[in-house]
Amino acid sequence: MALLNIRTDKDPILRKTSRPVIEVTPRILTLLDDMVETMRRANGCGLAAVQVGVLRRVVVIEVEEGTVYEMINPEIIESEGHQEEAEGCLSLPDRWGVTSRPMRVTVKYLDRKGKERTLTGEGLLARAICHETDHLDGKLFIDVMIREAEED
Ligand code: ZN
Repeated sequence: MALLNIRTDKDPILRKTSRPVIEVTPRILTLLDDMVETMRRANGCGLAAVQVGVLRRVVVIEVEEGTVYEMINPEIIESEGHQEEAEGCLSLPDRWGVTSRPMRVTVKYLDRKGKERTLTGEGLLARAICHETDHLDGKLFIDVMIREAEED
């Protein structure tokens, strides 16, 4: 496994749209492994491939230590409720803000075996799913930020 370089701030790649994965190749599996390692090393709870310079629809999420979700071609198919909580991003290390997000989302994705799965997440997990899938469309949390927050 390898640590990947996280793109930050004004890097224009962060605003680009990522392309779907057509086939889960060994290269995609290596990317997933490297992304998990990179996310953990950076103390993040989520990472999208675009943040490490790869324009593919791949994200990893770990909001609860030891439970890693690896999502290929994630697509939010249901959302409900509302929450306003502080969030940050490994690509915007100096920003911290309160965002408006759904309280609960259901996401459809392919796992590393290419099997279709669905996951419903609430609270922090719902925020992470929204945050990471937004990255795949070139969106950052500052786009849905209501106000700056104090770092805690
Ligand atoms: Zn982010």
